[in-house]
Amino acid sequence: MELFEMCPVCRRSSDVRSQRIGTFLRLEQFCNHCQYTRKWSSQPIIGSTPAGNLQLSAAVYLSGESFFRFEKICTSMNLQLFKYDTFRRHARLYIEPAVVYKWKHWQNEILHNLSEKEKVIVGGDMRADSPGHSAKFGSYTMMELDTNIVVDIQLVQSNEVGGSYHMEKEGLQRSVALLKDYGVRLECIVTDRHPQIQKYLRECNITQFYGVWHLEKGITKKLDNIAKSKECEKIRKWMRSIKNHIYWTAASSSTAQERVAKWTSILNHVRDIHTHEDTNFPSCLHDQRQSRDCNKWLVAETPAFYKLQKVLNNKRILKDVMKLSPHHQTSNWESFHSVIQRFAPKNVVFPFLGMLCRLYLAAFHYNENAGRPQVTSTTEEPLYRVSFPKAKRGQCTVKPVKTPPTFRYLDDLQDLIIHKVFENPTPYMDEVLKIPIPPDLCAGYERPDKEELISRIVSRFNQAQV
Ligand SMILES: [Zn+2]
Ligand SMILES: [Zn+2]
Repeated sequence: MELFEMCPVCRRSSDVRSQRIGTFLRLEQFCNHCQYTRKWSSQPIIGSTPAGNLQLSAAVYLSGESFFRFEKICTSMNLQLFKYDTFRRHARLYIEPAVVYKWKHWQNEILHNLSEKEKVIVGGDMRADSPGHSAKFGSYTMMELDTNIVVDIQLVQSNEVGGSYHMEKEGLQRSVALLKDYGVRLECIVTDRHPQIQKYLRECNITQFYGVWHLEKGITKKLDNIAKSKECEKIRKWMRSIKNHIYWTAASSSTAQERVAKWTSILNHVRDIHTHEDTNFPSCLHDQRQSRDCNKWLVAETPAFYKLQKVLNNKRILKDVMKLSPHHQTSNWESFHSVIQRFAPKNVVFPFLGMLCRLYLAAFHYNENAGRPQVTSTTEEPLYRVSFPKAKRGQCTVKPVKTPPTFRYLDDLQDLIIHKVFENPTPYMDEVLKIPIPPDLCAGYERPDKEELISRIVSRFNQAQV
């Protein structure tokens, strides 16, 4: 402000008027003595919108941040910011149309390329925004497993399909239909073991393999529960080995018999028996060495072993093991789901379009960064990081150190928003209007009278006082 207090021509004090729009500041200086005037703006204005405000809205949205959290940071240091309504307006008019447009545009290209391939292997997976059957949204992701790229995401709202139980099949159906429209020839789909899904794929004549991740997730959950009881806690020591064994079995076998033989061999191995009756896998491949922890071996006819056997030898599980996918065993889903979690945390409720855009952003981020190379030391050794995640209860995990992520999609989207969408929103808005957006979940509920709700709370409160 000091720069404006004095007239640069006659060096006497001048009037200064300021105007503020969100992060934008404009100063008007007027000298009463020599009539000198000048205007200064803190950021360019496009149309009547300060460019910085729009860019900031876009930056918050596109990085998967919450406006309210960002607002808190600004408030805590008295930094001027626009209101939530402005953020929503930017999102609705420019940011969301840009995200949708960029996704559709990119997807169109990639699906055209895939349709030129002889055979394509895809993996499908469902993510519900809350566990159990209370989920509002389910997102079905299709990944092309050869290149590890997310090629389609279908967002299904539970009231579209009569409950969250049906969301997975619906998502898969829509995705398969889209691939078919583009003429993509599927060799097989690696997916969940859900009976509805099996039936559907059988009916469409699509070969199905079971994703190892799905099977492993289910088994780990069961064993986790069993290991909670005192008499079975020894199983905890075996959790990681069993998990690795599941992946190894799938990746290293070529026939159904071999898969089952390897799978069941672990029940011997945990009892310190390393030769097996099944000729498909007569003995463990590891070195016969003395274990440091003799206490870890399980004993036949103890509750721990019995329960473990019941889980791993379960008839349905064995049937599933036979159909385990030999394709691409690295668990891509786990990392994609953690990217989604960053853009659309499960504890935040988003409207349909907001959720969809966040999923697209997660896919942009994943597709750009999933194949990042491992960092090597100055002596060309690959680097690893050891960590002790709380969820693993003291077990350490070793992860390769990857090169830092890149954010080219953010630059592209910012450019698109400022230079294209803002100039002429209509074609981009049209893309959004093509998306069938289901009515919100609560739209179907009867709204109780607000007064009555308040009186109920008040009377409960009064009771508590007594
Ligand atoms: Zn002057
Ligand atoms: Zn063994």
